[in-house]
Amino acid sequence: MLEKFAEVHLGDEIDTLDAADRKVVENAIEAARALDAIFWKQTWSGAVALRDRLAAANDRRRLEEVLLMYGPYDRLEDHRPFLDNVPTRPQGAAFYPDDMTREEFERWIADHPEDREAFESLTSLIRRDGDRLVATPYRTAFQDELGRAADALRAAADASTNESLATYLRARAEALLSDEYYESDLAWMDVENNSVDVTIGPYETYEDMLFGYKAAYEAYVGVVDAQESANLQTYARYLDDMDKKLAALCPYNIHRGAASPIRVINLIYNAGDARAGVQTTAFNLPNDERVHQARGTRKVMLRNVARAKFQKSMIPLAERLLASSDLGHVTFNAYFTNVLLHEMSHSLGPSFIGFNGTQTTVRKALKDQYSAVEEAKADIGGLYFHQWLIDQGVLPESDERPAYTSFLAGFFRSIRFGRTEAHGRANIVELNYLQERGGIRHDAETGRYSVDFSRIRGDVEALAKKLIELEAMGDYQAAKSFMEKYDKPTPAMEAALQRVEDVPVDILPRFRVEQTVKR
Ligand code: ZN
Repeated sequence: MLEKFAEVHLGDEIDTLDAADRKVVENAIEAARALDAIFWKQTWSGAVALRDRLAAANDRRRLEEVLLMYGPYDRLEDHRPFLDNVPTRPQGAAFYPDDMTREEFERWIADHPEDREAFESLTSLIRRDGDRLVATPYRTAFQDELGRAADALRAAADASTNESLATYLRARAEALLSDEYYESDLAWMDVENNSVDVTIGPYETYEDMLFGYKAAYEAYVGVVDAQESANLQTYARYLDDMDKKLAALCPYNIHRGAASPIRVINLIYNAGDARAGVQTTAFNLPNDERVHQARGTRKVMLRNVARAKFQKSMIPLAERLLASSDLGHVTFNAYFTNVLLHEMSHSLGPSFIGFNGTQTTVRKALKDQYSAVEEAKADIGGLYFHQWLIDQGVLPESDERPAYTSFLAGFFRSIRFGRTEAHGRANIVELNYLQERGGIRHDAETGRYSVDFSRIRGDVEALAKKLIELEAMGDYQAAKSFMEKYDKPTPAMEAALQRVEDVPVDILPRFRVEQTVKR
């Protein structure tokens, strides 16, 4: 399993920081570590004991594997146990009692409607108390770790010479202790002219595969690349037009806030959910729909991470799986732009929807289907906008072929992240759909894939429209049956994946800062 991850050295950019910023980094890392300790408790009820047992037994190899996956479940293989004597992973990780079923949870809420909000909260654990189910807020369940993290964030704020960053770090410290993240999410949106970038808190809900309600803690600490940030900011000017474009594909009522700052960073440390298994190349946060409406979202692009993945994984995959005519068009720039547009696309489209006279969110309406539908929407919406930016003359026409061929190579990279995982599943759906329509071709003789440029544009538009419709309708059954129709790997896909088995699936960062500070 360890061989699937190419070790890379990251984070030398820390050398460009002045003494004050280094102090900010040191404290931010300490806060990140406290949240990392919580994430261990969130992934599986037995994870901490297992890790400590392996460390005590000096079982280095197994310990490395468990550290990489944050538990005994292979994140590349649908969370199958890779150690003996380990139970099947509970779908709800450790957010719910190990033996609680979906039906039991839903029955409890039907019988106790007053508990709904606390039970569906992003930041609560569900536990048993005798024969009752009870919700415990994170601030209580993880009081010690959160206290340490808050202290470290305040120390980072004191060290910072950037007022907007200090404001965020202080607000975030408060949020960790109160589970109220709205104000600090706004403060995060307002951070500017910073050279150190800190993103910390409970964010993504992928770890909760039972309902997708519960957020996992994570942290990213990076050094801002001001020049690249300014370059990419150009695209953000078109965000409003992009939203109109999507609304034209499928009318939906509510538009999100248009502001969309983009920051390019070089990662110097990550922790918790961000560090488990496959590394994040970019993120679009916060997830709170109220913040989307008030301020939009901020995209953070991790350039050194993207570059390492492109070199270690994307290029070797393309060399073996793409037709020779397409091969030369796989470029880092097109790949990086696709990643950015994927993130921009996350912040567009339906968010709140009207449903039987009441308002809900797409996330809640589509439940366990939401994550994969939303990832597919972000992928395909992003590719759709790549073409649109070329049509507008914002990007040169010479970008057209690289946009699609780099995207094609990306399918195989993502599917290898796990087939039921949101991104992997979304990519199988997209590839199957585009192949069915003819935009992507598979040569049975060579086993290689290529883009059919006479078809791909229309097919991408059709799929974008379909995915937006699924979100705007908020029809759980419709989303489930569409995704299940396309989410099975074909024999050709299986054969292709087998031919690249020895290519690294992803990278394993060895951060420069960890040479001096122990994890
Ligand atoms: Zn995404």
